[in-house]
Amino acid sequence: MQVTRATFDEVMIPNYAPAAIVPVKGQGSRVWDQEGREYIDFAGGIAVNCLGHCHPAIVDAVKSQADTLWHVSNIWTNEPALRLAKKLTEKTFAEKVYFCNSGAEANEAALKLARRWALDEHGADKNQIIAFNQGFHGRTFFTVTVGGQAAYSDGFGPKPGAIDHVDFNDLAALEAIMSDKTCAVVVEPIQGEGGVTPATKAFLSGVRALCDKHNALLVFDEVQTGAGRTGALYAYEHYGVTPDILTSAKGLGGGIPIGAMLTTTEVGKHLAFGTHGSTYGGNPLACAVAEAAFDVISTEPVLAGVAKREQVIRDALAKINDEFGIFTEVRGKGLLLGMELTPDYHGKARDFIAAAVEQGLMILVAGANVLRFAPALVISDEELQLGLDRFAKAVASVVNANNAQKED
Ligand SMILES: *Cc1c(COP(=O)(O)O)cnc(C)c1O
Repeated sequence: MQVTRATFDEVMIPNYAPAAIVPVKGQGSRVWDQEGREYIDFAGGIAVNCLGHCHPAIVDAVKSQADTLWHVSNIWTNEPALRLAKKLTEKTFAEKVYFCNSGAEANEAALKLARRWALDEHGADKNQIIAFNQGFHGRTFFTVTVGGQAAYSDGFGPKPGAIDHVDFNDLAALEAIMSDKTCAVVVEPIQGEGGVTPATKAFLSGVRALCDKHNALLVFDEVQTGAGRTGALYAYEHYGVTPDILTSAKGLGGGIPIGAMLTTTEVGKHLAFGTHGSTYGGNPLACAVAEAAFDVISTEPVLAGVAKREQVIRDALAKINDEFGIFTEVRGKGLLLGMELTPDYHGKARDFIAAAVEQGLMILVAGANVLRFAPALVISDEELQLGLDRFAKAVASVVNANNAQKED
């Protein structure tokens, strides 16, 4: 059966607007489309393919687990889930793990746990959840409401209640709205979708202190920043601030759907038998693949390699910016980098995606004014250099088109 990009408009619900090309094959940090054109992948899904495409460790795990056991339901436990949970608890603050299938589900579990913990421990009045403007926590109705972007949360009727927002990195605003009725504060250490904006150290330690003062749980949404993306296994390590609950997905499965909520024994016990669950959550196939990914990501050479690659990218971006002057700032950490465009290019971030595709490069945006790179943590020097060369050409083409338009 012949299918093309046009088939999308014919049979798919229009909630996405995919690019004109259809990728059909990937290897390392290279992708090929239906026409056989090659692209360097600086998108990595959206910060998902932490080991690139078809990494041998992941391929082996998929194949061997597929030959062994795929699914048994949570009426039984299974070895891959238990091994993955052991490894996650050994290498993080957490003592207990809950598995699900996506970032939104991990956050949904975290929010329900926080509410249940507060109800059990402090009574029904302690139900306020505070999150931050421009935050993103997933697309279920609860998580989209906690996320701080009206474009995603409005237009679906009455929302879940007792959710408030303040500006990110504004500790005074948080302090003003917090009280003993606050049950949880939910924050991304680096806001990903909202523009690749890192929290300051002072902010996150201040949030921790306010949570301690008011007996509220601190939830770090590390769906995008986790699994080695910033050069630490989880970004909280850079900040020296430990949350009560941490959510992980995206890179965790190296491209296979899996999510996890990590917490302490004391907090986790409130999600008691029967309070929450998921049919596919913690299935052996996803967990075996995530375990294989974790075994690679959690090694020192891979984590240290993230900072080295970050420097190569930052040096190349500085050169590009010397020539074209299109970025006001390059921010982020490790291999989650955002380039804020100058006012001249505000609203035009997506033009750069199209120009990059023309040059054989996949990149991301984070809002209308920020370009985003989230390549594989193990991208080769050669692929990285080639991608940066193509990016320079894409920038040149957008700048030339923009200048030509101005002269008209
Ligand atoms: C992508 C993302 C989510 C949602 O994850 P899904 O797997 O799409 O449900 C939640 N939080 C953050 C920070 C994300 O970047």
